[in-house]
Amino acid sequence: TVSIALFTQDLRLHDNPVLRAAADAADEVVPLFVLDPDVDAADFAAPNRAAFLADCLADLDAQLRPLGGRLVLRRGPAAAAVARLADETGAASVHVAAGVSAFAHRREQALRTRLGSRLHVHDGVLTVAVPGAVTPAGRDHYAVFTPYFRAWRQAPRRTVHRAPRALRTSEDIASEPLPTAAPESPGLPPGGERAGRRRWQRYDLDRYVELHDDLAADGTSRLSPYLHFGCLSAAELVASAERRGGSGAEAFVRQLAWRDFHHQVLSARPDAAHRDYRSKGDHWLRDTAEAEAWRAGRTGFPLVDAGMRQLAHEGWMHNRARLVTASFLTKTLYQDWRPGARYFLRLLVDGDLANNQLNWQWVAGTGTDTRPNRVLNPLAQADRLDPDGTYVRRWVPELAGLPGRSVHRPWRQDRPPADYPAPLVDPEAVAARLRRGRGLD
Ligand code: FAD
Repeated sequence: TVSIALFTQDLRLHDNPVLRAAADAADEVVPLFVLDPDVDAADFAAPNRAAFLADCLADLDAQLRPLGGRLVLRRGPAAAAVARLADETGAASVHVAAGVSAFAHRREQALRTRLGSRLHVHDGVLTVAVPGAVTPAGRDHYAVFTPYFRAWRQAPRRTVHRAPRALRTSEDIASEPLPTAAPESPGLPPGGERAGRRRWQRYDLDRYVELHDDLAADGTSRLSPYLHFGCLSAAELVASAERRGGSGAEAFVRQLAWRDFHHQVLSARPDAAHRDYRSKGDHWLRDTAEAEAWRAGRTGFPLVDAGMRQLAHEGWMHNRARLVTASFLTKTLYQDWRPGARYFLRLLVDGDLANNQLNWQWVAGTGTDTRPNRVLNPLAQADRLDPDGTYVRRWVPELAGLPGRSVHRPWRQDRPPADYPAPLVDPEAVAARLRRGRGLD
């Protein structure tokens, strides 16, 4: 008998319920990845993620071969490609992980139409279980994080599986060559399960509490791209962090719960990828020259510009810088969150429809923040998160000559650096508006 393991956002051998079920169901397994043009057509495919994905697929294939398997790659709309392969191989079952986006829902529906009861859908993307496993009484999802987190901690955890020790994949199945792709950003990390596991093994969780808000220290795990592509299992990370224990592990696990939280919101409300989760009416400005200065990292607000330049260079940005840059676009420049989110999705190697759109909505005040009028003061944030100015000097070379925290207010210099722009909006006016009580933070 033959089974097909359709990989999606679970590009790993360890703790992969899809692969495990496919291996249990048959004596021959076809590990399959489908490059689906419908994903490319949506605006969440981008060169940085295409390059990281190419690494992930090469790593998966390299890991499968010594076990007796290999990765089969096909192109085309996923459901049609899978159905064709099932006919070619006479596969009795097809296994896939439950996804949360509108695209994933459509794919699952199309697979079910073609395969009927041969389709088996598993957990594998989230920590607790499939989206919808943790729900409040009488509603389909939690709209506020704190009660969600309380329920999430009590929820039964699924078993963490070992990687398979052997697999058999027939030599006769045709496969397209694995893809290659050039990234847009020069400083991308290597993709793949083995790179992700190395990073996790070396990461010092004990310092997470102390360092995770310190921009210069760069002390967060940087596991987000590996989690987005499923090179690492969130369930395995939670189990492993809880075994290590301590306050760092606790804070880290809470962040992984935020990931699950946003995923369950998107799964219940797929339209929140593009529409306000809670509408505040359409009062946004759209794509002015100011938004272009924001994208280019030339707003004249050094912390904002540092974050945007880190994004362009690394395809990644520190969480605190994401908050400050997104707040600046939406609540200082009054720009619509959607073009901002789209620009992030173009570059972020961890760009994730659930995490990106719902964090953007959280910041813009249209999402799940219980204090939607909160505004982050870019200067107060700079003093707090980058007190010596090291992060700004790292990313904004025009300001490298300014000492200490004076780097956050170049306009106060007698002779401000000539090649750095003047602030887009008057910093004193921004500060005064915040003092008048629009949710100082
Ligand atoms: P760590 O601090 O080490 O956290 C560990 C993991 O927890 C992360 O890898 C991530 O999977 C999860 N996590 C942490 N914070 C959050 C959060 N606020 N929401 C959801 N999950 C979280 N994260 C993405 O993975 N993809 C995105 O596209 C994305 N876009 C964002 C856009 C904005 C405007 C903001 C404010 C945040 C966004 N985040 C996104 C969340 C967060 O910034 C990143 O997950 C984090 O910076 C990744 O770095 P890390 O792996 O070192 O995080």
